[in-house]
Parts: sequence; structure tokens; C-alpha cells
Amino acid sequence: MAELLNYFGGKRTFVTAMAKKPSFDEIYMDLAEKLSLRSHCVKAQVGAVLTKDTRIVSLGYNGPPAGTHNCDIEWPEEGCPRDSKGSCSLALHAEQNAILYAAKNNVSIEGSTLYVTLSPCIACARVIFSTGIRRVLYKNSYAEFKNIPTDEGVDFLRKFGVEVTKMP
Ligand SMILES: [Zn+2]
Ligand SMILES: [Zn+2]
Repeated sequence: MAELLNYFGGKRTFVTAMAKKPSFDEIYMDLAEKLSLRSHCVKAQVGAVLTKDTRIVSLGYNGPPAGTHNCDIEWPEEGCPRDSKGSCSLALHAEQNAILYAAKNNVSIEGSTLYVTLSPCIACARVIFSTGIRRVLYKNSYAEFKNIPTDEGVDFLRKFGVEVTKMP
């Protein structure tokens, strides 16, 4: 049986041609995780991928708008200016960047699926719902990260009919 070389999550593993194929969900979450590594944010690195009919329509990671600041370069020690909730006051969230890129390029995201490494905050959840994204898959909990009692973004989306799934 042929052996294929597979690069997965930076790890090098050998799989046989008969091995289980990765699902699209796994592939796009892997990509979102890779994208998060490009973030210049000092506090959190988050990646997002938007797909439609299993094809990528947009992607993004968190950070100030392109062409403005790179937080880690400008404020390497003290970190970037914080807002009242302790978040970076300059950054767009990964989901926002993915959605804005689609908007800027007239790509329809109605009915699309969002893969994001950190569950959406409430502000992003409102935008996700309004743009017609129907399915959200995330890896880590925003509530756990922020030490707040509930994942209010996830609760909001589920309440209004968006399918939200936590991936292992
Ligand atoms: Zn920042
Ligand atoms: Zn957000």
C-alpha cells in the first residue's frame, strides 16, 4: 500500500492511503489555528476561516486594521492600549476581519460556515448573526479565556438558531 507523507499541525506523520481522510471541519480548523500564529496581538492570537459549500470564501486573524499598528512591535513590553474590558483597544477580532474582507470584496457569506479558534464574543456574535452565517465551529472558550461566567456570544447565536459546535 502506498505511503503518503502528511504534514499535519506541524507534526510529521506517515499515513497509509487507506487511512481516514480528514474532514473539512478538521482541515479548516487546522487552517484557522495556523492563521492565528500570524497575529501580532500580545494577549491573544485567534484565527478564522469562512467557508461556503466546503470552499474557503474568506479568512482572518485578530489585530489592528492592516496598515496601522503591530502591537507586539510597538509595545513589546507594556502591551497594547487596553479598553475597559482589558482587551486590545485597536484590534479587530479574527471573525470581524474575515467578514470585513468578504464585504470589501463583494463575497456573499449568507449561509456560510465560520471556523474560529476562540468562541465569538458577544459583539462578534451580533455581526455573525446579522451577516447570515449559519454555522460556527470553535476550539477554545472565550469565557474561559476571559474568566467570565458564560460564553455569551455562543448563547446568543444558539438562541437565534445558529448552529454552534465546540471542536475537540
Ligand atoms: Zn493589540
Ligand atoms: Zn469578537
